[in-house]
Amino acid sequence: MKHLGRISLPIALGCSTLLGLLVWTSSCHGDRGSESPSTLANRQADRDHLVEEYIIPHGVTDPAVLAVMRRVPRHRFVPSTYASFAYMDGPLPIGHGQTISQPSLVAKMTEALTLKKTDKVLEIGTGSGYQAAILAELAGTVLTIEIVEPLARQAELTLAELGYRNIRVRVGDGYLGWPEEAPFDAIIVTAAPDHVPQPLLDQLAVGGRLILPVGRFFQTLELYHRTADGYEHKTLSFVRFVPLVRERREEE
Ligand code: SAH
Repeated sequence: MKHLGRISLPIALGCSTLLGLLVWTSSCHGDRGSESPSTLANRQADRDHLVEEYIIPHGVTDPAVLAVMRRVPRHRFVPSTYASFAYMDGPLPIGHGQTISQPSLVAKMTEALTLKKTDKVLEIGTGSGYQAAILAELAGTVLTIEIVEPLARQAELTLAELGYRNIRVRVGDGYLGWPEEAPFDAIIVTAAPDHVPQPLLDQLAVGGRLILPVGRFFQTLELYHRTADGYEHKTLSFVRFVPLVRERREEE
């Protein structure tokens, strides 16, 4: 395996538990509020601000990714209690001790996947469904797996309300991937395993890209590229995600 990259600071926050622990309240289950037209208009300005002030400065340059970050209404993916924080560049609680990732990191991971309109993408860790929506705007089909059933159901509802028809949500342990649907042109993992799951490497098409955080406390964002004769790999940055949990003890 070729090692191509080097590590850069600072730490970006994925679906980290840190903020969740600080601001968690029992009122943050469900209740994704709808917005009045005037609030929605303001939210466009908020999204533009997020892109200009945080996402571009984080080094994201792909115009298609920037356009999607300006378009997808992140406030619809968080409980209404947190909707007013939706366009700050931080993670937010989504219930069940989980969080939606920091938008600049969502954009960076998406950009690294270099998606095409025909790509079939697998996401592990549906959470709110926000990352799935971003992927679905840039790819052909998105399959996403979430281990916490109520989160999967809520994400399905939100995505249906917003009109996404090219996303399938499954409840289960994403460590194993979705073998019946493999191979995938791109795979993204938004919870951190302590090693790279072999099933995900196996389910990558030749030419496919896999991006994932790896590690227990210290985590790095890793990018794999499947070639005709193996995998190329580079480490992108330090990150902080919630751990990937297993449904049952590993037999692998
Ligand atoms: N991508 C999400 C954020 C994910 S937070 C978003 O855009 O909102 C990480 C998610 O991974 C959590 O919802 C957590 O329940 C889920 N998760 C953790 N371990 C998992 C596993 N083994 N399989 C599938 N999902 C898992």
